Amino acid sequence: MTLAERTDPTSRAERRRQVAMDKRPRTTVSFYRYVQIADPEAFRRRLLDKWSELDCLGRIYVAHEGINAQMNVPDMYWDQFDAWVQNQPELAGVPYKKAVEEADFSSFYKLTIKIRPKIVADGLDDKSFDVTNTGAYLTAEEMNQYVEDPDAVIVDMRNNYESEVGHFEKAITPNVVTFRDELKKTPEMLGEYKDKKVALYCTGGIRCEKASAWLKHNGFKDVRHLKGGIIDYAHQVQQKGLENKFKGKNFVFDERLGERIGDEIISNCHLCKKVKCDTHHHCKNQICHTLFIGCDDCIKKKQGYCSLVCRQVDKLPTHTKKTLAKYYNLYIRKRKPFEKTRLVA
Ligand SMILES: [Zn+2]
Ligand SMILES: [Zn+2]
Repeated sequence: MTLAERTDPTSRAERRRQVAMDKRPRTTVSFYRYVQIADPEAFRRRLLDKWSELDCLGRIYVAHEGINAQMNVPDMYWDQFDAWVQNQPELAGVPYKKAVEEADFSSFYKLTIKIRPKIVADGLDDKSFDVTNTGAYLTAEEMNQYVEDPDAVIVDMRNNYESEVGHFEKAITPNVVTFRDELKKTPEMLGEYKDKKVALYCTGGIRCEKASAWLKHNGFKDVRHLKGGIIDYAHQVQQKGLENKFKGKNFVFDERLGERIGDEIISNCHLCKKVKCDTHHHCKNQICHTLFIGCDDCIKKKQGYCSLVCRQVDKLPTHTKKTLAKYYNLYIRKRKPFEKTRLVA
């Protein structure tokens, strides 16, 4: 059986078995691009045909506004893959990010290409907005100059739980929980900086690239964004021996929930509010699952729950919890959010 046939609806366990048996070395690669795609369905077909033929595995999103791909390619087909990609008008010259560690995307058991309304959900419905009209890139060195420059403004385009544990020196860190909120708020929030130098950054670059186009659309004159995000900044700082201007931890969405870049801890435990701490936990009560920062002592004392209420509720019998879930969710949404450290607006 070829891998192409594995895109058929085979059971998950069966696919895992097949992929585990395939011992060919693979290159793990991720890339994104904002580019106008007139017919996403036709584009998807084209990718699916070629990439199944080359036994690629991964998760790819396609939208009118572009493509976002996380995938792997058998090394034996890499040159063919690359040549084909460079031949597609939508993809020519797209910068690949190759993973260093093989474990990064070990969760791919098939090739999935999905059509989405957007590659990054933004809540915008403005037909005159051209997402491909993005700001210029900043290298790590240039980012450091911006941090030093009193005339430059730096804005963190991530959510509050991300910027709370780590951000660039002097960055504005909006107090928002979603990227939609961030886009809604920033043009007004940064109104006084319309004629100034503005630098945006996020984890890997995909969000701030869109945000740079959005601010330009809203009349900002000089908007730039950090190329490759904090992840690439950290690599460049290491490789080139630059001064590190990013303080604290880079929050990432995997089981580690963060990657330390500097030595400093810039946030406090949400539970005792005293101990310097930047370790995130999910509340052990599955109905709650709230993300919070907890110090070792508090986690031990509260047994991994975000609150005493959650600890009590979790002790109830399963059927009671099921009945309670709906109301409990309402309670969680209404309850006072954890106090964040040093966030703007
Ligand atoms: Zn604590
Ligand atoms: Zn909880």
